[in-house]
Amino acid sequence: MKHSLFVFIFLITFVHSAQQQDKVDFIHGKVDIKIDPKIETITGSVAYKFKVLQKVDTVFLDAQNLNLTQVKLNNKKVKATNNGKKIVVHKRLKANKTYTLDITYAALPKQTVYFLGWKDDVLGNEQIWTQGQGKYTSHWLPSFDDMTEKVEYDLDISFDKSYEVIANGALVTTKELDGLKKWSFNMDSPMSSYLLAFAIGDYRKKEVESSTGIPNSLYFYPSDSTMVEPTYRYTTAIFNFLEKEIGVPYPWQNYKQVPVRDFLYAGMENTGITIFSDSFVMDSIAFKDRNYVNVNAHEMAHQWFGDLVTEVDGSSHWLHEGFATYYALLAERALFGNEYYYWKLYESAIQLQDLTLEDRGEALIDPKASSLTFYEKGAWALHMLREQLGEEYFRQGIQQYLKTYGYRNATVDDFIEVMELVSDTDLDAFRNRWLNDKEFPFGEAKTSLVRESEDLRNFFGLQKELMTSSTDNESIIKRYWENTKSDQLKSQIIKTYYKSLSQDFISEALRSNNVRVRQAIALAVGQIPLGLKSEFESLLEDASYITKEAMLYKLWINYPSDRANYLDKTKGIIGFSNKNIRLLWLSLALLTKEYEPNNTNEYYLELSEYTSPIYPTEVRQGAFQFLEQLIGLSDNNLLDLVNASQHHSWQFRKYARSLLGQLLEKKEYRDRIDRLSVKFNEEELRYISNKLISE
Ligand SMILES: [Zn+2]
Repeated sequence: MKHSLFVFIFLITFVHSAQQQDKVDFIHGKVDIKIDPKIETITGSVAYKFKVLQKVDTVFLDAQNLNLTQVKLNNKKVKATNNGKKIVVHKRLKANKTYTLDITYAALPKQTVYFLGWKDDVLGNEQIWTQGQGKYTSHWLPSFDDMTEKVEYDLDISFDKSYEVIANGALVTTKELDGLKKWSFNMDSPMSSYLLAFAIGDYRKKEVESSTGIPNSLYFYPSDSTMVEPTYRYTTAIFNFLEKEIGVPYPWQNYKQVPVRDFLYAGMENTGITIFSDSFVMDSIAFKDRNYVNVNAHEMAHQWFGDLVTEVDGSSHWLHEGFATYYALLAERALFGNEYYYWKLYESAIQLQDLTLEDRGEALIDPKASSLTFYEKGAWALHMLREQLGEEYFRQGIQQYLKTYGYRNATVDDFIEVMELVSDTDLDAFRNRWLNDKEFPFGEAKTSLVRESEDLRNFFGLQKELMTSSTDNESIIKRYWENTKSDQLKSQIIKTYYKSLSQDFISEALRSNNVRVRQAIALAVGQIPLGLKSEFESLLEDASYITKEAMLYKLWINYPSDRANYLDKTKGIIGFSNKNIRLLWLSLALLTKEYEPNNTNEYYLELSEYTSPIYPTEVRQGAFQFLEQLIGLSDNNLLDLVNASQHHSWQFRKYARSLLGQLLEKKEYRDRIDRLSVKFNEEELRYISNKLISE
């Protein structure tokens, strides 16, 4: 999975229920379910085929709060107990025989399946989607929380025919029955239960194909047809690259990508179906600022590293996240060049070094490590391993590893053993340095960067010269600036040394017409000197939502007499899907007393409306922030905030709860929230009552 760009906290819950795996092997699972979005229930059946390897008295499956209607073993009713966590079938079973187990059940999942948009008046925003990893598929299906039980699943899902149902596997048939449509999906190969997934909503799709003929379906909302190209740009190139680079054919029948609203992470690599946050659906301007390419490549790489070969437990999480991060970087290198690759490694090296300096460094084999360690240190470890072994052995080793452990599970030890065998190299030193040690070896990392990257050689050279020289810093910087064509190096110079640059230098850099360099300046500038005013104003026209947002705000602050002019120039620009520019614009328009006084009310209503649950969490959070700081929250905003305090996305829920906590400390808000409590639902009322009592 890939976490959102801005949040780097990872919680894994460990499941170490020593299943009867060694005694019973589940082979096939035929799922047939019906979903009712009105009452948020899933009803249906699953038919498992399993083989008993050693004689047993019981067989069990994970089932979180499922209601059982019937359990049959080999077509005969059988005694089964259900404690709300596990279904246990009590029956003495002989070894070396295959059995069938049919379970009919109903689920009202509190997590793992998310229903959105079914209770509001907005048409077409209805969605249902799943998130298995970290949340457990056993909340909607009797299945296996233990990742080592791999089953070939075939899903049948019945639903309202006016929506699209998308799930793991190949769609074999659809049938209409009793006003419902049944989508039947087939899979050819086994997988862990946490990778089961479906997404339902109003979707269109674009079909493309890899050079090896694997169908790729790119889903989108009907209103987003112009965003398909920038959102999914390079998808086929990445797919082809990964197949070739990894050297093992894509392991599943097809690949689908589905954007969903208010997703819990950036993306999730369910088998053959990646579900990702629709905040990555974007236009061509946004593409330059922050795009889906990295997440796209990351989840795709997981189809091999995670889905095909799965970790045994959290101590081997590197085999998922480090590998997906590394192969995504390789894909980006193929698209954007070597220097891009090394700059990204440099950025993560700095973060990892900071962690080490704060004495918070983590070993890659620590199951409780943070995502910075699993993802970025994990990618670094592979980068260094490849440097040590050389491309040839590295590739051979990876192929051998995937072939040996494909459709099964592996540990870090298994991986290292394969790499050692293939390359005939002792990897003890590598293992100690990169996997077992808490520290990030920045010195080694830097040596590698300096050796391979001209940009970083220059950047470190510049740093060193500036540290040791007592003469004019700008002339040193200028020499490096003029000797490079690299946008990235130039942006980094601006970012690092902006304060020591003269007006002339900035003026020249602004005229460079390089969007990246100009963006670095827009972000770095505080006071805008009068001599550069018009040059900075020209940044409002740049094709970057980050630049526009920064400049609108900074110009508005620096030049009060021109506020109306800046607002006119940026009127109607929305920005990213989080409406970054529109929210800022509305707030500034409200703060500018002389600006369109007749429209003030309209602008306020628009801003205030954005706290509503019909908008994405990012938009809502932005609106809460601006309103709270500028004007205060209306009764409707307060109701929306209380609603947000129960949201399924924990980042947003946490934000809402913290803001609510601050407001409840003020008597005026406390009284108003108390008065509004008649409108709260049960959950909200319970939360607020507890909160009020505890204060
Ligand atoms: Zn991942």
